[in-house]
Amino acid sequence: MLEKLISFENKDTILVSYSMRGEELVVNEALKTRALPEGSYDKLLEFLKLYRDAVQLVIDKIWSIDEKLSWKKLYRLFYSDLMRLGFRAHHAKEIYINAKSLMNSAKSNGGRKPILRRLSDRIDKYDYKLDLNNMVLTLKLHNNYKVKLRLVTPKERVEKFRSWSNYELVVKYDGKSFWVSIYFKRIVKPLEPRTVMTIDLNFGNVTLAAYTLDGRRVRLKKLKTPHKKILTHKIWIEKIQKRYPKSWRFIKNVRKAIEKHGERIKNISWDYTHKLGDLVAKLAFKHNSVIILEDLEKLRENNKKDKEFNKRLGLWFYRRIQFCVEYEAEERNLQVAKIDPRGTSSKCPRCGGRLVGDGYRVLRCMKCGFIGDRDVTATINIYKKYISKHSRCGVSGVAPNAPKPDENPSGMQGNKNEAMTTES
Ligand SMILES: [Zn+2]
Repeated sequence: MLEKLISFENKDTILVSYSMRGEELVVNEALKTRALPEGSYDKLLEFLKLYRDAVQLVIDKIWSIDEKLSWKKLYRLFYSDLMRLGFRAHHAKEIYINAKSLMNSAKSNGGRKPILRRLSDRIDKYDYKLDLNNMVLTLKLHNNYKVKLRLVTPKERVEKFRSWSNYELVVKYDGKSFWVSIYFKRIVKPLEPRTVMTIDLNFGNVTLAAYTLDGRRVRLKKLKTPHKKILTHKIWIEKIQKRYPKSWRFIKNVRKAIEKHGERIKNISWDYTHKLGDLVAKLAFKHNSVIILEDLEKLRENNKKDKEFNKRLGLWFYRRIQFCVEYEAEERNLQVAKIDPRGTSSKCPRCGGRLVGDGYRVLRCMKCGFIGDRDVTATINIYKKYISKHSRCGVSGVAPNAPKPDENPSGMQGNKNEAMTTES
């Protein structure tokens, strides 16, 4: 089931993971928060200890058994004993599942038999009730005891989980406080893409354009890149290094100044790429698009000789943008495809002839007279490349609505350089 797994830690959650279940994307996220028992917590502590000792007991008994233990067998061996201790049916199940997985991981690491000290128990959804409206968690304990815990976390933090399902939680006691990690799950169904989102990136700007499968453009957006700003900092670094050609590494203040500019470059680029990734994925989600990225390996081959390209824009920036786009797309179960970018900015989208510059950011075809904005033309070519490879019956391989020669050469709808904001 786990085909793809990305996990990372962030401020709000301890763990996010993605997996594919057939065509569906399953997003798992754990909400970790402190939990304050209402009233006495003696019974809760008693339960946690009883639970831990029961897991240990099971481990002790199965440690020396060499055969494979099926759930049926575990049930036969332990179920009635655990019930006699006062556990509920699903407590018992969690206890031997837990014991088995602890044992398996210890054995596969070649380690010794685990001795449990910490109080950290897994509880099945049948044994708790979560009330997000009132931020209250009710745990069903042994011998029909119950305990209520108040979740100590801002309400906004749980807001997003309202539409998710939750299936399991872990209760911990660290000697001072109780903590719960509640596991949530969301299933994202794949959608058949209805549009193609193309991205053309060059030194000065990024152009996003969405085309329907029959070639109508439904969205066009141009954004400035931060390259001028980045370049300014680079030039500063070079200036400083030139002034102190041999010593810059060794003079503290000089080195610090260089580091400061380097830090700015890093911040600007991360900030920008995150925002762009988010924007692309949001638009793609809204227009139900497949996102087309340029194949960077091909891009490098094509531009091998172009040192100026690498120096000015840098593949690292492409890579970072792609990483952010792919990450955000993944979260929304959007398709991403790659195309060879060769020729996308030099071929006529109408007749395949060579395009030549014709004034500021405008290209003209020598053969058929096509005129178009440089960036928009690139998006048409990217779209066509994708369609010609992926077209199915009913989808034509050309863009019938490619700009006509007499169309406004800017080919733009709306503002030329819209600020980087998402529209509602
Ligand atoms: Zn042409």
